[in-house]
Amino acid sequence: MSQIPSELLTLIAHLRKLPGVGHKTAERFAFYLLDWSDEDLKKFSMQIATLKEKIYPCSECGCLKDTPNCSFCQNTSRDFSVMCLISSARDVYAIEETRAFKGLYHVIGALLSPLEGRSINELTIDKLENRLANLEVKEVIIAFDSTLEGDATALFLKQKLDSLGIKATRLAFGLPMGSSLDFVDYGTLEKAFIGRQIF
Ligand SMILES: [Zn+2]
Repeated sequence: MSQIPSELLTLIAHLRKLPGVGHKTAERFAFYLLDWSDEDLKKFSMQIATLKEKIYPCSECGCLKDTPNCSFCQNTSRDFSVMCLISSARDVYAIEETRAFKGLYHVIGALLSPLEGRSINELTIDKLENRLANLEVKEVIIAFDSTLEGDATALFLKQKLDSLGIKATRLAFGLPMGSSLDFVDYGTLEKAFIGRQIF
């Protein structure tokens, strides 16, 4: 039986859900939080409690926003003829950092997984097709992770895009196999954009 008070054990269990945090680290974080002032703890917990009320995905493109207007799909200075498909709203920020892309984004969400038998939601596909047609998009850049799931989803979507007569390109140059976009440095990602290939 652990001597640690159960309230603290519950906190440790929550902290362990974070990526890269094992039991020892979670324990250290929990004890560290005990040293915070009441005020700081309240601010921190309120921030977490209201996170999804304040930040939510744009119903059009899926990018995150905290105001009614979307800074991506409602920004008229962007190029509406090119669209970049990403699997997570988080990928936008790494791509924006490269300054190599000025088009629109579309968040696909969970990728197709042949091993887990997961396919792409039909509603997701319908939404994408409607958006491509409404905006008269000329080129779609597929910017998924270089993994089995990323490759399978890219191939599936390429077939859709071919049938719609839209040019499909994919980030290629410089991306190591098995790499996740948010672990790649900006220089490599910028090169991947510039060297994108028709596939
Ligand atoms: Zn948007």
